[in-house]
Amino acid sequence: MVTAYIALGSNLGDPERNVQLARLAVGGIPQTRVAMASSLYESKPVDASGDDYINAVVKIETKLNAFDLLAELQNLEGQAGRALPQDRTHLHNAPRTLDLDILLYGDGAIDSAKLTVPHPRMRSRAFVLLPLAEIAPQLVSAADLQAVQDQIIYKLR
Ligand code: ATP
Ligand code: CA
Ligand code: CA
Repeated sequence: MVTAYIALGSNLGDPERNVQLARLAVGGIPQTRVAMASSLYESKPVDASGDDYINAVVKIETKLNAFDLLAELQNLEGQAGRALPQDRTHLHNAPRTLDLDILLYGDGAIDSAKLTVPHPRMRSRAFVLLPLAEIAPQLVSAADLQAVQDQIIYKLR
């Protein structure tokens, strides 16, 4: 079993419902269980226009390797109505019904075309660090939090 952390985000359709359903769906991935889930957070889009995001982070225990896990997460994005990666024409940071990113996969480091872990931008994003700190405070330092304190984000429930 490997412990991994997944970031969930949505700003299209009914974002709160999308994230809640995604949280359940992550628990339905084969050989995977959700060990802990953060509250939901609401954040302003970063470097993009569009509606506010709903974000959360979940801790999972999985027997899948990181690439199979990524494929399962991309299936869930597709089921939520998001185009598959190869069919996407949108710009970077475009609005999406569901975004599922692998933040950490055990203490592994992966740097391939398809997958980079730890997620290279996680430390610069309040919408990742705040929910992550809620369920895994040992993974987020005070300096990390200070670096993103200008970003607008609210804890919902
Ligand atoms: P960002 O990575 O900055 O959060 P994004 O989530 O908007 O951007 P996407 O369009 O969702 O980017 O994903 C683009 C590609 O990123 C995916 O097809 C996937 O192969 C790749 N990728 C690389 N590392 C990861 C990771 N840790 N988790 C999820 N996808 C990743
Ligand atoms: Ca993302
Ligand atoms: Ca993504």
